[in-house]
Amino acid sequence: MTQSAELFPCALPRTSGAESWRADFPILAQQIHGKPLVYLDSAASAQKPKQVLEAMDRFYRNDYANIHRGVHELSQRATQQYEAARAAVRRFINAGHDHEIIFTRGATEAINLLASSWGRINLNAGDEIVITELEHHANIVPWQMLALERGVKLVPAKITDEGEVTLDAIRACLTSRTKLVAVAHVANALGTVLPVAEIIALAHMQNIPVLIDGCQAVCHMPVDVRALDADFYVFSGHKLYGPSGIGVLYGKAALLAAMPPYQGGGDMIESVSFSGTTFKEPPHRFEAGTPAIAEAIGLAAAIDYVGTIGMNRIAAHEREILAYATEKLRGINRLRIVGTARDKAAVISFVIDGAHPSDIGTLLDQHGIAVRTGHHCAQPVMERLGLSGTVRASFGLYTTKDDIDRFVAALEAVRGMLQA
Ligand code: PLP
Repeated sequence: MTQSAELFPCALPRTSGAESWRADFPILAQQIHGKPLVYLDSAASAQKPKQVLEAMDRFYRNDYANIHRGVHELSQRATQQYEAARAAVRRFINAGHDHEIIFTRGATEAINLLASSWGRINLNAGDEIVITELEHHANIVPWQMLALERGVKLVPAKITDEGEVTLDAIRACLTSRTKLVAVAHVANALGTVLPVAEIIALAHMQNIPVLIDGCQAVCHMPVDVRALDADFYVFSGHKLYGPSGIGVLYGKAALLAAMPPYQGGGDMIESVSFSGTTFKEPPHRFEAGTPAIAEAIGLAAAIDYVGTIGMNRIAAHEREILAYATEKLRGINRLRIVGTARDKAAVISFVIDGAHPSDIGTLLDQHGIAVRTGHHCAQPVMERLGLSGTVRASFGLYTTKDDIDRFVAALEAVRGMLQA
């Protein structure tokens, strides 16, 4: 991973590096309904640079075979590239060992794996799991399913009206029964950046392990799981400019070593007989069956891509876009930004008085603007804020100020139509 770009100054001109980064994303160079595409739905899924598309294409054209069990050349090449992808993920989040990186289908599967494997051996009736009111359903429902099965209690920490999670709110939920704290690093619906380092330190004072859902964080900021001292950290490749169908569960080696398998099948066993089966050590114990091989390689290409630009530089660019867009949206009559935390990542949720979010989204699409509308798989936070949904504009490294200008102009036109 090249870090040299991190040395570039962060005071960015109007177009910044984003114009040239944008050129790496072929899909963005198209018109939608006769208008230039403005893609503001990166929090749902980011677009893919040609470096990722080419890496996957190259792999399928030249090196594709199943991994781990083949003695032939193609299988060995595929295995080498798949395991190199694991090492790339390890470096990207600064984990200590490759075997602490488990490939999954995505963050959702990573959390289900934890609930099913770690949860089953560590949680009993009466135990409590602390989450927050602003979690994505992926960090609520797997724990709720386990809670029903096991008599475990889910305890959501309260958020402020601005959408912040304070340490006091977490502290108020911790009891002698708390067995896990599981919180988002960045909230998908509001963009709030949670104080995860402090939350982890707080939980560790009571020897409680912490899972961080980093789905919306890894694409926006450098993440160092060892500096955070996270026990578990999960994310999805597709929000990090990589392919869908691949995600990551990071776990501290000792925790993973004590966990039983999640799924059974090929590649996760040492030996199988009808009298009994023995399992491999992590990470292979948790990767039953043929994995998403090309997708892992695509994820490594995405990691290499963002590394070449530099995560600090991406963060600086997105901070500037977020500030620019926030100021412009604040100038729109009867528009209210939902989620005004002091520390936010590149997401703006909003509502407009008298206009339904899905009508706004549908009309914006006619202007070539792609936004997401609805509850964003975070119904509890919508309920907490008294809303059925919002419009969410989310930004990526390829978002430019021109995109924001087009978005704001379209929004003014749409608002006029809906309120006429
Ligand atoms: N957690 C957060 C914060 C998310 O934003 C998402 C997806 O939007 C998920 C988890 C689930 O990710 P996936 O659907 O890729 O498994």
